[in-house]
Amino acid sequence: MATIGFIGLGNMGAPMAANLVKAKHDVTGYDLSEAALSAFAATGGERAATLTEAVDNAEIIITMLPAGPHARHAYQSEGGVLSRARQGALLIDCSTIDVETARALNRAAATAGFDMLDAPVSGGVGGAAAGTLTFMVGGDETAFRRALPVFQVMGKTIVHAGPTGNGQAAKICNNMIAGISMVAVCEGFALAEKLGLNWQTLFDISSKSSGQCWSLTSYCPVPGPVPGSPANRDYQAGFSADMMLKDLKLAQHAAQACGAPTPLGAAAAAIYQMLSNVGLGAKDFSAMMELLRSGSSSAATAAGGGRPILTRTQTR
Ligand code: NAD
Repeated sequence: MATIGFIGLGNMGAPMAANLVKAKHDVTGYDLSEAALSAFAATGGERAATLTEAVDNAEIIITMLPAGPHARHAYQSEGGVLSRARQGALLIDCSTIDVETARALNRAAATAGFDMLDAPVSGGVGGAAAGTLTFMVGGDETAFRRALPVFQVMGKTIVHAGPTGNGQAAKICNNMIAGISMVAVCEGFALAEKLGLNWQTLFDISSKSSGQCWSLTSYCPVPGPVPGSPANRDYQAGFSADMMLKDLKLAQHAAQACGAPTPLGAAAAAIYQMLSNVGLGAKDFSAMMELLRSGSSSAATAAGGGRPILTRTQTR
């Protein structure tokens, strides 16, 4: 069993750390939130009063933080992971952050003598609780093999995506595909409604036709066809629209940095921004359906990147 320092006990980190405790690892957790620390202690984990206390003795240090700046701070600030981790500790960042920061942190870790993996996840809070997350891992093969038993406690599908940063690259490419395809499915169902075509009928046809995709068959954005989808519980997230917006912005940032054309990715980012602006950011990202049905927006021509895709005419 490993001695593990776990930093970031939020919606995702808390159940991931709890699963490590359940698997009899010796886990010390740290979070800025007192409530998160208390909840973690209730699962049998050891709470730390400072980040330094959580990492000092750990063989493996896992971070699950909101975004790049939080990860930089946790690793590179005074008393942070790179200055306090013990020699030989393996560092694993499971946060979703930008590829550039992931690669920069890995270089800094290597300079300080540590192996580091970027290992963002997919599967949401439900997958974290069930221990069925997908891990997309970037970094050295030896470090990956060393981390594998720990990933296997928290996840079901674990993929070594290549060198440093490739875990984050996989995550943002996947989520850009999901974000775009969700908009497409919502547009299809919104159009069907206006044309007098029953949603279940469209589902029965499209789920067996060329429109088939995960956003349709596993996460259908209208109530009925897929009983477990967030549409059946008033779009309670799931994976929030604001989280999707964050990932689409990361994808746009990466695409601009490497000169990759992503016109639909840019359009999707603009549309999710609008969903957030009308106050639906905390809802599931499939609440895009509500935006398209609400009459609070009217479609405008999406010619050229950066131009508004939807025009607000009414506030919810
Ligand atoms: P969250 O906001 O619920 O949790 C983040 C936690 O980090 C908070 O409890 C916060 O107090 C803590 N924190 C921030 N800075 C800290 C610091 N310096 N030291 C210690 N603790 C600190 O976020 P989340 O939903 O758990 O998401 C975490 C990461 O996982 C994000 O990068 C997110 O994009 C990614 N992710 C989330 C989901 C999801 O469905 N929620 C799914 C896949 C990936």
